[in-house]
Amino acid sequence: MLKVEKLNAFYGQIQVLHGIDLTVADGEIVGLVGANAAGKSTLMYSLAGLRTFCTGSIRFNDAPLIGLPAYDRVPLGLVLVPERRRLFPFMNVLENLEIGAYTKAARATAAKTLDEVFTLLPVLAERRTQIAGTLSGGEQQMLAIGRALMAKPKTLLLDEPTEGLAPIYVKLLFDLIADLRNKGITVLIVEQNVHHVLQVSDRAYVLENGRIVLEGRGQDLLNDERLKVAYLGL
Ligand code: ATP
Repeated sequence: MLKVEKLNAFYGQIQVLHGIDLTVADGEIVGLVGANAAGKSTLMYSLAGLRTFCTGSIRFNDAPLIGLPAYDRVPLGLVLVPERRRLFPFMNVLENLEIGAYTKAARATAAKTLDEVFTLLPVLAERRTQIAGTLSGGEQQMLAIGRALMAKPKTLLLDEPTEGLAPIYVKLLFDLIADLRNKGITVLIVEQNVHHVLQVSDRAYVLENGRIVLEGRGQDLLNDERLKVAYLGL
């Protein structure tokens, strides 16, 4: 379980997150929504141990994470699929996947995990020798998720996975998230696609100006008047 308490995050002197309390229980799909610049990506980077300076508490299966570098968080099973994918564009699909299995434990089972990733994401098997930068946007997103799966995550942090994707890939992606849960992987997902994400989420949080302003079951938030007005344009 991921447990965040009174988390503050800073870029230099600038404070972006203020007193965030958030939990993600094992097996849950939890959504994180909010307007542009609310601090969603900052929260994801802070959980992954990248970019920000943090105070407060982040615990993952009871291990304290504040101060722990990103490369020591991945072996614990907390793995980020960053916004805009951050692939290695001049390397092929297979090479990008292999890099995902860089931890000692993941390397030991990499061949088996690769088979599982290819079964889950057949498009990657078909295109295993293609240079990543030449994949379509949807294929690149699948590769970014495949690379994260190679690290054997317990919890995946997905930052705007549907950004810029054609509707067919948006559907594929939300189906994939349901598959991941069936495989026992917990998901925290940031999305602009508020309607869609609230439908698949067990619970969700709404972030505004670096603070959590609403929290609830996905279905309940879909019917929440404040959220409807602010984000769903209803
Ligand atoms: P979007 O939906 O537009 O991606 P977001 O909710 O993910 O937005 P963040 O990217 O977390 O928002 O940005 C939150 C605030 O932090 C913004 O005001 C942004 O300008 C600021 N910020 C982000 N990265 C940095 C940085 N490296 N240095 C300074 N400020 C930053």
